Amino acid sequence: MSKIQDVIIIGTGPAGLTAALYTARADLAPIVFEGHEPGGQLTLTTDVENFPGFPQGVQGPDLINNMREQAKRFGADFRQLTATEVDLSKSPFTIKLSNEESIQARTIIISTGASAKFLGLDKEKELTGKGVSTCATCDGFFYRDKIVHVVGGGDTAMEDSTFISKFAKKVYVIHRRDSLRASKPMIDRAMKNEKIEFLWETQVTKLNDNEQGLESIVVKNLKTGEETTRETDGLFYAIGHTPNTAFLNNQIDVDDHGFIQTQGKYPDTNVPGVFACGDVQDSYFRQAITAAGSGCQAAIRAERYLEEVGKN
Ligand code: NDP
Repeated sequence: MSKIQDVIIIGTGPAGLTAALYTARADLAPIVFEGHEPGGQLTLTTDVENFPGFPQGVQGPDLINNMREQAKRFGADFRQLTATEVDLSKSPFTIKLSNEESIQARTIIISTGASAKFLGLDKEKELTGKGVSTCATCDGFFYRDKIVHVVGGGDTAMEDSTFISKFAKKVYVIHRRDSLRASKPMIDRAMKNEKIEFLWETQVTKLNDNEQGLESIVVKNLKTGEETTRETDGLFYAIGHTPNTAFLNNQIDVDDHGFIQTQGKYPDTNVPGVFACGDVQDSYFRQAITAAGSGCQAAIRAERYLEEVGKN
């Protein structure tokens, strides 16, 4: 096995990239595993208007790319591999990689983010890419002059429906309650959009398909119980995310929703030397800026931990 690394960072959203920048500048030569979706959720979004320092807004992929280049400039070593398993039972920790190799490290920073949730309906996974999507930014373009339904009542649902309306003829937002949890500016923007209509207290119960893919959906009015079939070209899920922690195999404490538990104001996990930052440990704020901030905290804690325990 190769030499023991000081810092391994798993995941490259704003949290992992900020941790990479800080640990690289602290001369810790971090190795960063990029995972299945390098850049994370920001690479699937367009305008980011709330990241400080960009008065005109910035494109999500550009922001990520800049963060990556900045960390690289100070020596962060990016590898296009996924961590498949970890052994945290003793230090140095062992991380198994998607190329079957293993690497050892004194500290690990987990920044693997969270993945889109599905409704759990029959055929939804096989229809993904054939009418069903979890990424409006990736797939909205394909729905020019089409009819689209978006499920969810949060900021993602508002942002997605607004984005898709640039292409689609009509967008219906299907929400299970009679009020939205999205922020006011996002709601106002969607409500003002003439192409967007809301189906309140409604749930999708079935997907109907043909050889081309999704053909229609069955929706149930939760108040009346009435079920209706609605023709649609696309169905976008915007119902939240699940933290990516499977590879940890229950070695790290998580909360009731599966998000990694950190210690009070610190990014430390229950295993000394293992830190968590970004959406994998944050079910509340979930912003690029808070993820970046927590990545900075994880890097500083890793640096101080290494000083405390000594490197050898
Ligand atoms: P949220 O968890 O905020 O919202 C998920 C929505 O999906 C809720 O309305 C929820 O309904 C609904 N939902 C969940 N499960 C189901 C289900 N099984 N069936 C039907 N509906 C379901 O997730 P978001 O992805 O919208 O947002 C996550 C975070 O990211 C938030 O903090 C948000 O502010 C932020 N964000 C910010 C953006 C920006 O600033 N540009 C853009 C996008 C997201 P219910 O309300 O009934 O629970």
